[in-house]
Amino acid sequence: MLKIDIGRSNRGLLIFIVAALLFAGFAITNTVSFSYLKNTLRQSIIETELPKASNEIYSEIVLDLLPSTVASSMLANDHFIRNWLTSDEKDVDTVTQYLADARDRNDAFTGFLVSAKTQNYYTSQGEIIHEKEGDPNAAWYFRFRDSNKEYELANGLNVDSLQTPTVFINYRIEINNQFAGVIGLGVKLKVIQDTIKRYQHISNRHIYFLNSSGQITSNSLGAELTENMLEKVPGLHEFLNQKEVLTPKVFQYVHAEELRFLSLRYIPELKWWVLIEQQEELTFRKVRDMLYANALIGLLTIVVTLILIAWTINLFHKRLEALAMTDTLTGLYNRHIFENDIKLTLSQRKRASIPVSLAIIDIDNFKLINDKYGHLEGDTVIKTVAQIIKDSTRKSDIVSRWGGEEFVILAHNSDLHNTELLAQKIRKNIESHTGFPSQVTISAGVSEAIDNDNKDSLLNRADTALYRAKSDGKNCVRKFEEPS
Ligand code: GH3
Ligand code: MG
Ligand code: MG
Repeated sequence: MLKIDIGRSNRGLLIFIVAALLFAGFAITNTVSFSYLKNTLRQSIIETELPKASNEIYSEIVLDLLPSTVASSMLANDHFIRNWLTSDEKDVDTVTQYLADARDRNDAFTGFLVSAKTQNYYTSQGEIIHEKEGDPNAAWYFRFRDSNKEYELANGLNVDSLQTPTVFINYRIEINNQFAGVIGLGVKLKVIQDTIKRYQHISNRHIYFLNSSGQITSNSLGAELTENMLEKVPGLHEFLNQKEVLTPKVFQYVHAEELRFLSLRYIPELKWWVLIEQQEELTFRKVRDMLYANALIGLLTIVVTLILIAWTINLFHKRLEALAMTDTLTGLYNRHIFENDIKLTLSQRKRASIPVSLAIIDIDNFKLINDKYGHLEGDTVIKTVAQIIKDSTRKSDIVSRWGGEEFVILAHNSDLHNTELLAQKIRKNIESHTGFPSQVTISAGVSEAIDNDNKDSLLNRADTALYRAKSDGKNCVRKFEEPS
């Protein structure tokens, strides 16, 4: 059937441009937000997350030691001990019992007392060791005695099979402003073990504890850093030597082609370092999964949008096409479409040798109808005539409004005679129609296509026939016949 195609490639180009713009915008936005997020995440690891985690571990250690430190201070100020020290250290059993009670109350593994007078080391287990100057095992005592410190924490002497670090809390006893001895507790630092254990469940982090000479004493399972590797981290070694820095510092290090962040914090109470290692890749993975999901949703949205745009464009195009093809008053094809179709039909006729004919129909004395009943009523008459013509023709006949009160029928597969009969049928149907304000008639001229016919020659012959019909008195059909 009849079809005009206005700019299919233009529509394709339009959709292509919109798609290109959407995809480019999508790619740019995603790339920018991807790198922005990566940078933000990196900043937050370096500036916030890792220092915070290091400080938290430090606080936990201090908090863990606090009760034993307080308890040791109370022991140092206890009257019983002070009296005992000033009364020649008799009845060692009571002191042993006293230290054992203190040990058990505080969940420590040992309680001890060193007397300044006798230099005896009493323990909660009942041992008495004489602290001799020059003995390496006793060195701590003389160092502490001469240090003027109220208390100190000494670590790492006993490390049990679970690698649980131990800490001795040494508290100074002074009687009448004179050094009278050291008392304290030995506790196991479970918090370190607990922290290491906790870190086994943090997929992107590892934790290490380093002693004062920078050796790794304990670490979480799967941690890969070695002292040799730490040596190579720029600036880290220098930092290890500045023990009095009490804020964490974050270093960057590439290992196995992956960026790792190392946060180092000194724990002065233990003279230890806590080191937290975080892998950027593992941290970023979660964010990346989220971004991929977002990108997928974005892509789907674009595809759906493009489908909707293509659909809308096609819909409007079809509507415009229909508007361009039809005559608004009658709904018949307009002259433009008819002229397109007649060319096509004539070329098909040649190939298939099927008859093609044409009828021009003109309403008789239409001017009078307009003059008598007005233009609007005239329009209604044109519409009714158009409907009657449409109803009288076959689907394969192309009926169009040629202009004003004239119509053209292009009859496919219909010779001159049959088209004349069709025109006669229409003439009669209009003549007998009772819905008009007054009698309406038409005249028609019919012609059949011949070889080498073109649009104009075929139309001209039908027009000549119509002219004859008018001059023969109107309300009749004339066909064009070659003068014999
Ligand atoms: P004839 O029998 O010789 O065809 O006479 P006629 O009056 O029908 O022919 P003419 O060509 O002199 O007049 C046609 C009139 O149709 C003139 C014009 O005002 C009117 N006309 C053309 N188009 C329209 C239209 O869309 N609506 C209305 N109401 N009138 C129209
Ligand atoms: Mg006319
Ligand atoms: Mg007329």
